[in-house]
Amino acid sequence: MTDDTHTASLVDKLERERTLSRGEFKALLAGRTLPGSAARLFERARAARRAVYGNAVYLRGLIEFTNYCRKDCLYCGIRKSNARAERYRLTRKQILECCTQGHELGFRTFVLQGGEDPYFNDRRLADIVGAVRAAHPDCALTLSLGERSRASYKTLFDAGAERYLLRHESAAPGHYRSLHPPGYSLRNRMRCLSDLRDIGYQVGCGFMVGSPGQTDDCLIDDLFFIRELRPQMVGIGPFIPHKDTPFAGEQPGGASLTVFLLGILRLMDPALLLPATTALGTIHPQGREAGLRAGANVLMPNLSPVAVRKKYMLYDDKICTGDEAAECRACLERRVNGVGLDVVVSRGDCACFTRASPMSEAFPAAKLTEVRSVRPQIHAGR
Ligand code: SAH
Repeated sequence: MTDDTHTASLVDKLERERTLSRGEFKALLAGRTLPGSAARLFERARAARRAVYGNAVYLRGLIEFTNYCRKDCLYCGIRKSNARAERYRLTRKQILECCTQGHELGFRTFVLQGGEDPYFNDRRLADIVGAVRAAHPDCALTLSLGERSRASYKTLFDAGAERYLLRHESAAPGHYRSLHPPGYSLRNRMRCLSDLRDIGYQVGCGFMVGSPGQTDDCLIDDLFFIRELRPQMVGIGPFIPHKDTPFAGEQPGGASLTVFLLGILRLMDPALLLPATTALGTIHPQGREAGLRAGANVLMPNLSPVAVRKKYMLYDDKICTGDEAAECRACLERRVNGVGLDVVVSRGDCACFTRASPMSEAFPAAKLTEVRSVRPQIHAGR
């Protein structure tokens, strides 16, 4: 049975218990197109977000600093076999200039993302991380550099990086294998996530929605994996084919399934940092607004120099590749205000993350109090 009342009761149960059984998740996903079920989910998800974060939407300035990659993920436009990708690397100076510009625009988190580029060894990266920290002690620095050794993650943490984004891509082993060349291991990806968490990073995982071969069961595996890992962030966006990859002819993922999953994730963990991603804005012109209405609370606009933007093409037709950072910032503010929320100038730490860290002086005192008072209502013992 999957009728409207049943899905409504599942939304209520998810809100109450923060999880469902596999069968219940299946029924909820199957019922997502029933009249009223998405509306009910989103209404509850917004209430959950409001209880923790009020109307705040956090910005992350994304600096795509290299598109060289030693990996060959079948879906990705910057995979090493794509001979048509024009490769680039930003210099240390260029990266620091992006941060300076971002800081002036009110960004208080920078995300350094790139392909797995061996040029950026630990020594070079630690130097860049240290320089960004020294220049902007009031900002958080996030890395998103793919799979590295535990020792490397530790070196970068000690240099001042506090957060790490590493999407797990798929928690279903067979599906994970079908998205990657032979020999790439889901186990290693999970090892990375667990090392990152042990070292003390705020961790983000995530997956693409509607990637080739993905079933509702795969998505439920993702939800259960997230429940186990308890990350501070989860990045999800629709899969979008790239013309120079083996998945060129595949169907893209849907905006409506993506936003439905955002609503589910918000109810599973009201304190989660959930971006309304650029891929969601690419697949639908109002995708990011729909994401915010479904419970997302983060946007990650691009701070990379306009000259390289088009070269970091993970998928076709990526939006905002021609806009100056300042234009992007103004456009996003209008979009956020349009759905009744506010862009705030803040590091935007996860409300659940209170563990003392070497950077704890950087938290404004007021924020810490707010964080502490929120936590017990969410889930103690994280
Ligand atoms: N090398 C880093 C960063 C990868 S790019 C890493 O391995 O983590 C960031 C994310 O973009 C990927 O994790 C993937 O989920 C997403 N992505 C890549 N290709 C995509 C595509 N064709 N459509 C949508 N998202 C894609």
